Amino acid sequence: MDDFLPGSCEAAEFFRRSAWSWYDGRLDVGLHYAAAAVDVKCDEHHEPCELAPFWHIALLTKARELEAGWRALTSLQVRRGAPESDRVTATAHIIQGDLLFATGRVDDGLAEVGAGLRIAERSNARSLLPTGYVVMALGALRRADMRACLHFVDKLTGEALLGYFGQAAGAWVTAQAAEARSGVESAAGLIAGIVTNPFVLRQLLVSEPAAASWLVRVSGKLGACDLANATVTAASAASAEHSRFGVMRASALHGAGLLEGDSGKLLEAANLYPDRWCGASAREDLAGLLAARRSDRNNTIHILESALGAYTAVGATRDASRVVNKLRDFGVRRGAIRAVEREGEMPHGLTNTEFAVAELVSQGHTNNEVGRQLFISRHTVAFHLKKVYQKMSVASRVELAASWKAFSQRQRFGGSPGQCPPGGPLPLRRRAVSAKRTFAVAPFHRT
Ligand SMILES: [Zn+2]
Repeated sequence: MDDFLPGSCEAAEFFRRSAWSWYDGRLDVGLHYAAAAVDVKCDEHHEPCELAPFWHIALLTKARELEAGWRALTSLQVRRGAPESDRVTATAHIIQGDLLFATGRVDDGLAEVGAGLRIAERSNARSLLPTGYVVMALGALRRADMRACLHFVDKLTGEALLGYFGQAAGAWVTAQAAEARSGVESAAGLIAGIVTNPFVLRQLLVSEPAAASWLVRVSGKLGACDLANATVTAASAASAEHSRFGVMRASALHGAGLLEGDSGKLLEAANLYPDRWCGASAREDLAGLLAARRSDRNNTIHILESALGAYTAVGATRDASRVVNKLRDFGVRRGAIRAVEREGEMPHGLTNTEFAVAELVSQGHTNNEVGRQLFISRHTVAFHLKKVYQKMSVASRVELAASWKAFSQRQRFGGSPGQCPPGGPLPLRRRAVSAKRTFAVAPFHRT
């Protein structure tokens, strides 16, 4: 930490205190010192003094004080003047992208973070990379783009081996990716590791509002009541320490509501969250609880539809698919997930579900894995895959993968199949294009 925060002025000292406070799970104290670091005028071009305003915005984003974050960003943009170092430029992109992502502008957020990562990787600004990778992996997971998700999780793992400051969010995203890909058992060790390390857990709870409820949910699936209890206890303590942050209270209520089966707490959490995705998640859990209790059917459907609308609005395809499936259990058909704003036409006249199945199968996933990621049964996957084979005139997964690769290269780079892609970091170029490929669930008509 001291290595990447050199400088001995007052502003640098405030920045250091801010970073350590956040690291210890005190977001409120961290914000206090970050604001102090911004207020102190230092003209000696110490790196921490130039980065302090961005750090302040990053903490405002974690606290989901989104309006304050935007105000700080706007006033900073007015003051920023050329020339600035690559590191400052990369930081600006990543921090703005993180804020956009938290605001629910997922495409714009991922594009900004991607741009920042390219500069940071090129200029070897290592300390910036984990923050960016976490957003990219989380964004990819929510869009059901497992290939991109695992790509960024791999990069995070590489950074973790080298050791970076504040690894809690990275561990959490990695656990989510493992659960999404191979089931909760495969993430069990990492989940236990996060929850039983009080420092990691505290840091995570003041960084990622969706973490508490996720940990309670997966602990429940693992039958690990002790882990669920420990999460709720820590989230309540963090909320009590941060009473002025609605997001912390919402996160603690969400976790407790899940653990205790308390619909009142889930509803309160849903209404308190400033983060749309988190609000949708609380509503989805509330609907699950009501469904298990065989409560009023129309009300449950209404809550699920509201969650679906919010997931769709923030481009969370994977979550929207899950809710579409739950609605189907109620006999409510909302249609398959359809793609909007997809560049070009669908290849071979595939439907959107067929497109998603073909994409995942060509990435080497089994029918079981594809089913888990799209929330459909493996039999349904097999059904769609058969249609894909017919439409694409292929006879095997290997042929499909080869054919798909040629197609997606054309889509990515706009060239002919035999043409080599232009140079540059391939995965990031890929994101820049697929960021425009947003998905939405077919709009429904309220009866
Ligand atoms: Zn200074």
